[in-house]
Formats: sequence, structure tokens, C-alpha cells
Amino acid sequence: MTAALAAAHQGLKVVVIDGAATYGGSTARSGGGLWLPGPEAATYLQHVAGAEVSASRRDAFLKYGPDVLAFVREHTPLEFARVPGYPDYHPEAPGGLAEGRTVEPRPLPVHEVAADLGTLAAPYRAAPNGMAVTAVDYRWLSLGLRHPRSMLTAVRLAAGRLRGRRLTMGQALAAGLRAGLRAANVPVLLGTPMSSLIVERGRVTGVVAGPSGPRSREAGDRVEESSRPGQEASGSRQRGEAGTTGERRLRARRGVVLASGGFEHNEAMRRRHQGLGAEWTVGAAGNTGDGIEAGRRLGAALDLMDEAWWGPTLPLTGGPYFCLAERNLPGSLIVDGSGRRFVNEAAPYVDVVHVMLGRTGSGTHLPAWLITDRTYRDRYLFAGHPPRAPLPRRWFDAGVAHRAGSLDGLAQRIGVPAGALRETVERFTGFAASGRDEDFGRGDSAYDRYYGDPRQRPNPCLGALRKPPFFAFSLVPGDLGTKGGLRTDERARVLQTDGTPIPGLYAAGNAAASVMGRGYAGAGATLGPAMTFGYLAALDLAAG
Ligand SMILES: Cc1cc2nc3c(=O)[nH]c(=O)nc-3n(C[C@H](O)[C@H](O)[C@H](O)COP(=O)(O)OP(=O)(O)OC[C@H]3O[C@@H](n4cnc5c(N)ncnc54)[C@H](O)[C@@H]3O)c2cc1C
Repeated sequence: MTAALAAAHQGLKVVVIDGAATYGGSTARSGGGLWLPGPEAATYLQHVAGAEVSASRRDAFLKYGPDVLAFVREHTPLEFARVPGYPDYHPEAPGGLAEGRTVEPRPLPVHEVAADLGTLAAPYRAAPNGMAVTAVDYRWLSLGLRHPRSMLTAVRLAAGRLRGRRLTMGQALAAGLRAGLRAANVPVLLGTPMSSLIVERGRVTGVVAGPSGPRSREAGDRVEESSRPGQEASGSRQRGEAGTTGERRLRARRGVVLASGGFEHNEAMRRRHQGLGAEWTVGAAGNTGDGIEAGRRLGAALDLMDEAWWGPTLPLTGGPYFCLAERNLPGSLIVDGSGRRFVNEAAPYVDVVHVMLGRTGSGTHLPAWLITDRTYRDRYLFAGHPPRAPLPRRWFDAGVAHRAGSLDGLAQRIGVPAGALRETVERFTGFAASGRDEDFGRGDSAYDRYYGDPRQRPNPCLGALRKPPFFAFSLVPGDLGTKGGLRTDERARVLQTDGTPIPGLYAAGNAAASVMGRGYAGAGATLGPAMTFGYLAALDLAAG
């Protein structure tokens, strides 16, 4: 949507298509945080992104990020606010900032986006009673009633409902961008999945799209009068019926921007590239890697396909739950099947899963369990459930959650050695008293402490596990979406393996391999670059 908005304001004729019946994809489900610093963040981004990301892409992202924010503010009803104190995810790394760089949309009154409210994709988790919960609020709400600010936040949110319904986080971002498109007269065709790219004389000149409904399409990319070697008219997969009723050919004089998200819901692609299935992602259901596949069939290079915006996730009966504050709050720890800790539980979510999956060289740590006690449960919000409120029985019936009156009983239920679990908890309880996690440094980083409990002394992330019953929750390697995809350059042009661009083809967001490499700079480090490279694609199209 940012690409389309920018292209329209560059004077181009634009159309947005989305395969889903709603607009917004994962963006509408998201926290809506944006990491869009300027060039001052260069040292830090280089550290986070690593050697796999070119300096030219990093620099372009940093240079144009602030412009994107200004552009979006000017051409949509969106306004943004800093998320105070939300640190970069590696604040102690060179150039990292403990006060953070993340911004988020200010609550957006629904009347400003009313025309397209009915087709806005659903949020990942709706706030109770239609409250307008921001990322800042979530931090305080997660503390239950432990902090005066938590109580004030709850009261303010309840009172805020009197001011009329307002959208926050990714709902505000997606709806605000959509409102900008409406104001710029850009059509958004829903239920219109792209099935293939049209190529003429070596240039991408459009897409074949639709019909909506069950995807009964795809016979590969149409190569019309192609003179480029290596292009094949037949796709590797057959979904049949391509070219039947309902398909449309949308011609693009300047080019096509693939912003079709990642492949988090494509089971076969995930198995092939990641050795994991699609069941634990919280990304949008429509993200099945179509854009990545379409580009690949034209000879585009792919990068980072084994990566995702990972996060430790509870495989709850109603769907996966992506853990944030639950891991940082005191009175919780994570063990693997040996009954031992293996990671700083409060570390940024991508990093925790890298360790779980054995990507850091210590072997895999699955299954994994989040262990807590009664005190933790009495104090804090847990997966959206208020402190003290009974947890759903179906979690226990399904074996996702376990409860026992003693640590030995809990160990038996989850099949880990009881002695090891007891030792782990005793050692951890010692760390809680001293305030130093000698094994993994939990609470040392400002990032860990952001979602800690400020009333917990001496370390806001470390608390004893003493009070029965004890709980264990299954933790799996989930994600917010995948982050590997089409290789692109600093102008968002899709590149072939020899480094040359495919004329007329651009990619942004999770359809493109991330400018963050295998890292995650801070909250908003997926949406910030997605919007920036969409914007840069539009500038290049307009210049073309
Ligand atoms: C719960 C949650 C919280 C998150 N919080 C944050 C956050 O605070 N900050 C942040 O930076 N990131 C966050 N993320 C990650 C972020 O939302 C995604 O990385 C980002 O939205 C990806 O943007 P995108 O434009 O690539 O894809 P999307 O926003 O998912 O859009 C892709 C669209 O393409 C459509 N599509 C797919 N295939 C086709 C096809 N063949 N034809 C036509 N259309 C197609 C889909 O239907 C979808 O609407 C969060 C994600 C989740 C799930």
C-alpha cells in the first residue's frame, strides 16, 4: 500500500490487488510498530544485519526511512508517536539505543477510515471490549495490577471507549494507508490473487489475477514474445484451470511491485527451506509465497529462505500465541527436554528461536517448556488472561499446559528428569536473590528489562519459583512470518543470480529477503523496511 500510495503521488496510474477478501495482511494483524531511524543508526544496523546484506541496501533503508514516515503522515490520516523507552533489540551493541527508535500509529478514529472498515483484515488478537490498546499500553497491561501505571492504563483505556472507537497498532496502520489510497483514487481489488506475471520481451509488463475463491489457478508465468533466455512458460506446479473464467490480465506499463508477503502459510515451501511446517505462524493466512515463487520462476535469486521473524510461541488450542512479555517477567524460565535452561528467556524473540532450533551451534532444544509458579500467575497477564483468572481447561486437556503441586510432579507430567528440573529452579532462584543470571545474563540488557517488572528487585526479570502449583507450557518455534525471499537491490528491483535486475519487477516486505539479514534491529524492523522499499520501488518506477 505504501508503494501504491507513493506511485500515485508520483503521478502514476496504480492498482493494488490482494488475493484475500480483506486488505491488510499481516500488517493489519501486527503491533504496527515502525523502526525507521535515519542514517545515525548505520553502525547499529550493520552490526544487526551482518555480512549477508549489502551496504547499499542498508544505507538506502536508513536514508529514506524518515522520508517515508513524513510522506505517510502527509498523505494519510495517520500520525505517529514514539514508543518511549522501547529499546532497540540489541541496545548494548555498537550504535544501539536503550531509549529505542520505535514509533507506532496514534489511535485512529474509525470515522476517518469508515469507508473501508468492513474489509479490513482482522487483528491478531482483538482487545477486550473494543479498547484502543497501543504497544505502550500492552507493556503496562502485561503487569496486571503490579504497577500504578498498569492500573491507570486500564482505567484510561476503559474511559477512552467513551470517545468512540479508535483503531490502534497494525489495524490503524493498514486502515490509514487504505484511506490514503482511497483519497488518491487508487483502486484496491480484493479477492484478486495474482497467479502469474506477464513477461514481454524480457520485461515484466503485468499480472494475471483472479479468480477469487479457492485458488484454482496457476500454470506458470506467461511469457509473451519473450526474448530472454531461461524463461519458461510452464510453471513447476499445476493448480489447473488457469486461463478459465474470471481471470484478468492487468497490464503494467512501468512495472509490478510484489508485496505479497512471505511464505509462512505454504507448508511445502516451509518444509523445503526450513524443515518446519506452517502450523505455528501467526502471519496472515493469505501469505503463501506466491510472489516469491513467481519471481523465482523468472530467474530471481532467493536469499534467507531458512529464516523467519521467529518467536517462542504457545501452541494453544485456539491457535498459536506469540510470547512477548511472558518470557521476561520474573518467576518464569524455559527448559528443554533435559530439564535445563538453554537460553536467556528474555532475549529478543528471533534470537531465542535461533537457539531453540540449534542455529547457534548448541544443538536443538526441543521440546521446550515455559515453567512458572503460582506467584507469577497471580501477578501477570498470561497470553491475554488476567492475573488469577483460571486458564482454559482445554489447554490442559490438549497437553499444551500442565499443572502440578510440586516440581517433581510437573517434571513427571512433561517427561523431563525431576532432579534436573529441581536443580534448575533452585539455581535460578539463587540468581533471583542476587540479581545476576550467571548462566545466560537475563535482565542484563535494557531490552530484557523493558518487559520486566519494575517492582521486582534487584533484577526486574528474575524472580523465584516457589509457590505451588507449578505450571509448564509447551513452547514451539513460531513466527510472525517468513523473512527470506526475492533478492533485491537498493531500489527494490528484483535481481537475478548474476546481479542484474529483472526489468519491471520489484519486491518489498516479506516477499523480499530482509534488509535485516538474520537479525532484528528493534520493534518495527519488519514494517519499517517493508514500507521504505515499497516507497523506493515507487520512486524508481516513476523515474523509469
Ligand atoms: C501478531 C503480529 C505482530 C507483529 N508486530 C509487528 C510490529 O509491531 N512491527 C513490525 O515491524 N512487524 C510486526 N509484525 C510483522 C509484520 O506484520 C509483517 O512482517 C509485515 O506485515 C509484512 O508486510 P508485507 O507487506 O510483506 O505483507 P502483508 O502485510 O502480510 O501483506 C501481504 C498481502 O499480500 C496478499 N497476497 C498474498 N499472495 C497474494 C497473491 N498471489 N496475489 C495477491 N495478493 C496476495 C496477502 O493476502 C496479504 O494481504 C507482526 C506480525 C504479526 C503477525
